Amino acid sequence: MNQTIPNQETKKVDTKKIKSLLNRRKGKMKRFLSYCAHCSLCAESCFLYMKYKKDPKYMPSYKVINSLGKLYKKRGNVDWKFLNEIKGIVWKNCVLCGRCYCPIGIHVPSMIAFARTIVRSQEVYPQLDEASPESWL
Ligand code: SF4
Ligand code: SF4
Repeated sequence: MNQTIPNQETKKVDTKKIKSLLNRRKGKMKRFLSYCAHCSLCAESCFLYMKYKKDPKYMPSYKVINSLGKLYKKRGNVDWKFLNEIKGIVWKNCVLCGRCYCPIGIHVPSMIAFARTIVRSQEVYPQLDEASPESWL
């Protein structure tokens, strides 16, 4: 059965739900975001960063800042287009393997997993036809 992708113009994002989810883990997640010194020490422990020839888009810190970080910065006031933009970061660019090492204890996979939860709450996630090894890893 084909999955229907909602029309981006008409799809209503439940920002109240997003705000409620963000608030649920606000303390810990905002602490992680503010403690990140952007030192890049975690970068080379991410196999995707290495696989893609050190493309900055695959740096663990880039991925959290541009997904969960933006969700907090916008206080959950996001639209369908924005959620689709970060979909690739949270599903394609990170597999939650936990290999990235941060010397000050920031746990990147739990942040990305939380961003996934928020994005998924609005029924935004990879469609079956996007799940090929070529396009999603
Ligand atoms: S997550 Fe940790 S290691 Fe990575 S950039 Fe931030 S402070 Fe540095
Ligand atoms: S959890 Fe994500 S960011 Fe960390 S090493 Fe794995 S793929 Fe890279």
